[in-house]
Amino acid sequence: VTARGLIVLLGIGLGACSAPPPARHELYVLHTLVTVTLPDDADGAQLALVERTLRAAEARYTAWGEGELARANAALARGEPATVSRELAAALQDARALSVASGGRFDPGVGRLVEAWGFHRDDRADGPPPDATWLAAWRADPPRIHALTIDGATLSSARRDLWLDLGAWAKGRAVDEALTALRTAGARSALLAAAGDICALGDKHGAPWRVGIRDPRGAGVLTTITLADGECISTSGDYERGFGWAGARYHHLLDPATGEPARGLASVSVIARHGAHADAIATAAFVAGPEAALATAAMLGSPAALLVTSSGEQRASPTLAARATPP
Ligand code: ADP
Ligand code: MG
Repeated sequence: VTARGLIVLLGIGLGACSAPPPARHELYVLHTLVTVTLPDDADGAQLALVERTLRAAEARYTAWGEGELARANAALARGEPATVSRELAAALQDARALSVASGGRFDPGVGRLVEAWGFHRDDRADGPPPDATWLAAWRADPPRIHALTIDGATLSSARRDLWLDLGAWAKGRAVDEALTALRTAGARSALLAAAGDICALGDKHGAPWRVGIRDPRGAGVLTTITLADGECISTSGDYERGFGWAGARYHHLLDPATGEPARGLASVSVIARHGAHADAIATAAFVAGPEAALATAAMLGSPAALLVTSSGEQRASPTLAARATPP
């Protein structure tokens, strides 16, 4: 469960202001803790709108259980085509394009791999990793989102072992959708954070929204960043979900090429104009590893990125360094 926030929300504004502080609300949705910060005088309808939008996104994009994507996955696994909403078809088009651009480091085709590792459950207990034979078979011929045909609203695939998991894209997308809903309803200011996927609407009493990027190995904040209206920041961290076995720890950010947790990094944060893209780019950069992460993020449209390696070394791209304020 991603209950420990990846990013620390700071309760301080930049400018001096006499206005009352914004009010923070917490929701449990998308299998994670979502923090909704709204102006003190926002009416209750805004919070209700955010919650409704996030729950609709959860129902549409969750790979397992009852929702729309889960039903489509079950049809594909039976070897049948699936008819989906325009929204889900568009989501899969977007995710597939990002997957190709990332060289398959972000690949929603990992559903069966996520299941084999037990990360499709919120409460993966300690226990052995998948057996070596299963992982070798995965590596030999992994099902990729590339094996999905999207023809209008109809999904089909020749591979019955293709199980789509939008977990690395959907929290960012859900925040995008909630932000758009708020904007359409006339809201002028909000900060929405689904664990490590955060987007800003407007500003806070005339000063930009400011968020802190958490130290992946400590309790503190590495640096703080301002977000312009409509900007998003996402962090993928190895501490967010995992389990231990035989003295080793395994986390939920899987390298589709090896079938195992990606090595070398503790966290990656990236800034982008869309929450879904920030979310997927952070995952792709994490999988790319310490040497390629910043270049991968830049190539995918996020020149502002910050990483922390497994050994605790910090590296920021010049674009991010220029707008960061150390605590
Ligand atoms: P978090 O969910 O902690 O914010 P991410 O956004 O990086 O982290 O998403 C991780 C989730 O995405 C995993 O729980 C799994 O469901 C899925 N996933 C893991 N590895 C990959 C990958 N390489 N490409 C696409 N999805 C992945
Ligand atoms: Mg992600």
